[in-house]
Amino acid sequence: MALRFITPLGFLQMICHGNNMASSNRIQSPDKKGETLFINPNFVKKILSETRARPMLEICGLLLGSSGHVTEIMPMPNIAPNPRRFFEMETAGLITAHREARRRHLSVIGHYHSHPSGSCLPSATDAALAHYGQYWLIAAFNKIEGWYACKSGRIEGVFLPCELILHKSV
Ligand SMILES: [Zn+2]
Repeated sequence: MALRFITPLGFLQMICHGNNMASSNRIQSPDKKGETLFINPNFVKKILSETRARPMLEICGLLLGSSGHVTEIMPMPNIAPNPRRFFEMETAGLITAHREARRRHLSVIGHYHSHPSGSCLPSATDAALAHYGQYWLIAAFNKIEGWYACKSGRIEGVFLPCELILHKSV
């Protein structure tokens, strides 16, 4: 189903692991670290359109922001030798991105990539790459899901599902 045919409510439910749509109270309440990630819906649309534009490759990029809020996304080239199954960002680009984030009083709080397989579940390879405290967004065609890497992660022993809350003012 094309994104444009999904109502805002349906779209939000699709990416929130089946949880109820966030009420205004939910949005305003302080979130426990890693349980939620606030993101502007335009960023989600950009990631999904980039994913659909390269359906056979893993696309990737960084999430910039602070305290569970994505305030910017930064697409990065995937330099993995086999970009159909893996993603890798070049070190120089990462250093530049971190420097740019610091200059603007932001942090790299995680990253996104896509799975041509159609599954938004993190792989064992993703788990091996994960750093605790980072958010991961995994896109597959029209879907995107959020994950938080931590010691108590249940998926691949690293990731916890993370509810995405679409928020225009982020
Ligand atoms: Zn992956």
